Amino acid sequence: MSEAGLRVGIGHDRHRLVLGRPLILGGVRIDFELGLDGHSDADVLLHALTDALLGALGLGDIGEWFPNTEPRWANADSAIFLEQAIREVRNRGWEIGNLDCTVHAERPKLSTYKTAIAQRIAELLEIGADQVNVKAKTGEKVGPVGRLEAIDADAIVLLVRKTPSGSGLT
Ligand code: MG
Repeated sequence: MSEAGLRVGIGHDRHRLVLGRPLILGGVRIDFELGLDGHSDADVLLHALTDALLGALGLGDIGEWFPNTEPRWANADSAIFLEQAIREVRNRGWEIGNLDCTVHAERPKLSTYKTAIAQRIAELLEIGADQVNVKAKTGEKVGPVGRLEAIDADAIVLLVRKTPSGSGLT
């Protein structure tokens, strides 16, 4: 892998809002009349974060690792995907520097959930709360997000090398 001690990854995801499904964002159950449709639990934020981690490692994307055609991932807790991705990070000698993410949802209002979501992400990744930032935006009533058709999420993560590369200390 790269000689440099830093790597960056980006993730994006979208799931449709539907009736009859729970809304789970960043591993936190959100009280709302609509939920996200998908093969797994459709946690759009954990999917974006998983893609950011895989991307930082140059390991493709979540669809390659956890195909939505596989019965074993039906209604799966997306924490499984994120936990696999962080294992890959650590197995390769990397650690998370920080991560930042944005959830795009017209409703529900997520301001009261942001801290709980950040704490859950930190817990799943076994990192400090100060390494995680969660932002929430509306869709300004336009587009798929604004019309309550979907929730989107973006994530970016910086990886730092856990141990110095090469020989000798600098
Ligand atoms: Mg997804």
